Amino acid sequence: MENLGLLKLQLLYYGIRAGEGLPSPLANPFGLVHLVLPDKTPVSVHRNDNGRESPFTLKKDGARFHLDIADRECVPVKWTPPLTCYQKKTSSGLPVADILTVHGDFIAVHPSHACRFGQSGLSCRYCGSSKELSQHPPFTPRDLVEAVQIVLKEKRCDLVALSSGRVDTDDGGVEKLAMWVAEIRKHLNVLISLDLVPPASNDWIDQTYAMGVDAVYYDTDFFNPNDEPKKDFEKHKTRQLEALEYAGKIFPTGAVLSHLVVGLEPLEETKKSIDLLIDRGVVPVLTYFPPYDGSSLRARWTATPEAIVPLYAHLYERLVRTHINPQWVQQYDVVLTPLEGRFFSEQSARYHLKLKHFYETGFGRALRFGLAGLRRHLRVREVPRG
Ligand code: SF4
Repeated sequence: MENLGLLKLQLLYYGIRAGEGLPSPLANPFGLVHLVLPDKTPVSVHRNDNGRESPFTLKKDGARFHLDIADRECVPVKWTPPLTCYQKKTSSGLPVADILTVHGDFIAVHPSHACRFGQSGLSCRYCGSSKELSQHPPFTPRDLVEAVQIVLKEKRCDLVALSSGRVDTDDGGVEKLAMWVAEIRKHLNVLISLDLVPPASNDWIDQTYAMGVDAVYYDTDFFNPNDEPKKDFEKHKTRQLEALEYAGKIFPTGAVLSHLVVGLEPLEETKKSIDLLIDRGVVPVLTYFPPYDGSSLRARWTATPEAIVPLYAHLYERLVRTHINPQWVQQYDVVLTPLEGRFFSEQSARYHLKLKHFYETGFGRALRFGLAGLRRHLRVREVPRG
């Protein structure tokens, strides 16, 4: 019997080969094939076109799909056709695929420039990097609202995530996103999450909360000791942790998240970072985006799926001991979520799984939207900057 957590990590690492007679188009415009493994475990897998290094081949048998795996039993999977709305255009003529990417119930808006992962050569396709982000045509908040409306006609989506990309400004990138949040709020009933850098002072976090944002992802950069030593590194790290802790007190439980990139540092360091975040009420999301084949980073890469399993087990076991709600982790097809770490642990996920299933019901979803709306109503205000 396959361990589904390990299988998902292996698929993220190796990609898949495509067998004969598969539907076309098989992948979304960003080269990802969306599959659902047993136990309702979604994964978006890149096509490994040269095919030499992947043991996985997607095959179709009548109406059913399965993964043919070298030297192992095949695994039944479900294949989801790419959304047709990616090809549709806004009234200004921009294709939806140039504006956003959809992951399950979650819409990731393409930032104007790459974040740190993009700059480091990792094979991330989370917010649409099939072509260089710099080659995307510029778009306006109005274009974005229209693109989201086009998507919503085809499928339900609950959350829109906007990203600042990599920034070095004191505000952590929130100031430029304010008008985008305002435009979405004006026209759409969705939850909004922002990907930001921890700001230099806490009043920017107050500002983010007061804008009506529902969740924040902070891109911390203290976890990469392989970087050239930074001037004032300890001061920088202390400030980032302070910002995360403060945000954890301001936003609802579980709605402050932070990526930890697996593979750029010794695994023990990542484990320590998991603890640092959880101790501050922040949900760590382990992102495993092995570098593109042929890149120099790939040649030096040692973080194989088998090697990183203990990290996911550790994250999961720390999380179940807290009552932090990990339901804000939405990009569950491109990462192994904290809750999916249960595949590597003996500890029961009963409480968190029950909560997850509840939020997937119509009533749970309505309650989530209602509570978020109420919180917003109580807090949306102008915060003067001192
Ligand atoms: S998250 Fe970063 S690296 Fe990934 S697609 Fe978006 S900008 Fe590129």
